[in-house]
Amino acid sequence: MEASLKALADAEPVPYWTADPARPAATATLVGATDADLAIVGAGYTGLWTALLAKEADPSTDVVVVEGREAGWAASGRNGGFCSASLTHGFGNGLARFEPEMATLQRLGMDNLDGIEATLRRYDIDAEFERTGALDVATAPWQAEHFAEEPELLAQYGAEVEYLDRDAVQALVHSPTYVAGLLDRSGTALVHPAKLAWGLKAACQQLGVRFHEHTPVRALASDRAAVTLSTDYGSVRAPRVVLATNVFPSLLRRVRPYVVPVWDYALMTEPLTAAQRTAIGWEGRQGIGDAGNQFHYYRQTADHRILWGGYDAVYYYGNGLDARHEHRAETYATLAGTFFRTFPQLEGLRFSHRWGGAIDTCSRFTAFWGTAHQGRVGYVLGYTGLGVGATRFGARVVLDLVYGRDTEATRLAMVRSKPIPFPPEPLRSAGINLTRWSIARADRNDGRRNLWLRTLDRLGMGFDS
Ligand SMILES: Cc1cc2nc3c(=O)[nH]c(=O)nc-3n(C[C@H](O)[C@H](O)[C@H](O)COP(=O)(O)OP(=O)(O)OC[C@H]3O[C@@H](n4cnc5c(N)ncnc54)[C@H](O)[C@@H]3O)c2cc1C
Repeated sequence: MEASLKALADAEPVPYWTADPARPAATATLVGATDADLAIVGAGYTGLWTALLAKEADPSTDVVVVEGREAGWAASGRNGGFCSASLTHGFGNGLARFEPEMATLQRLGMDNLDGIEATLRRYDIDAEFERTGALDVATAPWQAEHFAEEPELLAQYGAEVEYLDRDAVQALVHSPTYVAGLLDRSGTALVHPAKLAWGLKAACQQLGVRFHEHTPVRALASDRAAVTLSTDYGSVRAPRVVLATNVFPSLLRRVRPYVVPVWDYALMTEPLTAAQRTAIGWEGRQGIGDAGNQFHYYRQTADHRILWGGYDAVYYYGNGLDARHEHRAETYATLAGTFFRTFPQLEGLRFSHRWGGAIDTCSRFTAFWGTAHQGRVGYVLGYTGLGVGATRFGARVVLDLVYGRDTEATRLAMVRSKPIPFPPEPLRSAGINLTRWSIARADRNDGRRNLWLRTLDRLGMGFDS
């Protein structure tokens, strides 16, 4: 048996972040009929930011949030905690799709990240926010091909990154697998994901937002005056509604073909000793991602653990969202193996937690927005694995849309356009699995993309986590 598997023996099958004593009690289930000025469905980051920004803009707005389980239980409580300024799932994806507005998107993204930091300070939210920056590492020469040109390219769009050759990147973080790196000092912060969600919920409550958890919304209907959300024991009637339901089946059927659930898995180690920390360097604590198509993301926690996630991005037939997909032994084994290949000096370290979560992947990898029911209902989703920061921007823009405001953001092509929808099953899983197979093959063949991937590239479609 591989030694790396032994390190998994005691890993608890729960998300490390939500298994925390700071987890707040859930609010009461909605019973009976209630009215509000603004009703929000879903209490992940999107719903929480929507509530907070609406209250900040006008404290007299009566805001109610209805959540099917508990605030932050889903993607918002189980992610990697990379809080990026990028609104476009990375610079390269944004440039390929929205080149004319990329400088604006970069500026809005940096303002958004600064806005998150300022909000945490304003409400005294301890989300373990650290503006560490991010390090992209190439672990094969083909991944580094464009690295040297990136600093000059990004500078044209107001972003600063630094190229690191093999010696420089290995001096920063001691992994024998690194070939080159790109260091972005200011565009990423790390957070404790669940504490961010819980802190936003508390801030909303301070401002008078009403919450009803364990209250799934079953149906949405509207008349000329307002929208009614029906729940098991009650209803909410409001002239404006925001759907912040991410990867879960939208209450608007027409939105459903735009996103698929992509399962992503992560491991958390036990805390590193001082000697183990010295052995790997990484004093800057940057969030790290490797540059393959199938990529790992990893970071340190406040108590010196390492979160190690990504690589496999799994789609289960028929938009599988079942709790049984929350664990995947094969992926945990792969992750444990790649962890010790990256940091062989940590041999003997053990994993304390393992978990998975569903990502709301859309074919362009960035959020998209829309309205329905005569503009009374707004929605935003599709962040595809980079929503920790972008959800605040998503919330700001969806509020602009339901309040009919014409702003710099609502005029963006990114906001006005939609991704290409996914085809129905069985074509959906056949296409996604062919794409996954092709991506894995490209990574083994120095990044060479086959005909299928090149066709998707031309169509502006893709599959990512
Ligand atoms: C494993 C993993 C790692 C990730 N890592 C990162 C990362 O490092 N950086 C990053 O930027 N992004 C990351 N992401 C993505 C990021 O977590 C998400 O983009 C973000 O949390 C989305 O927030 P949300 O509020 O839109 O959705 P969610 O957090 O999923 O919240 C949606 C909420 O809506 C509720 N809901 C749905 N339907 C109903 C209904 N009918 N009635 C009532 N309530 C309903 C759900 O219960 C849920 O609480 C990761 C995601 C995963 C799964």
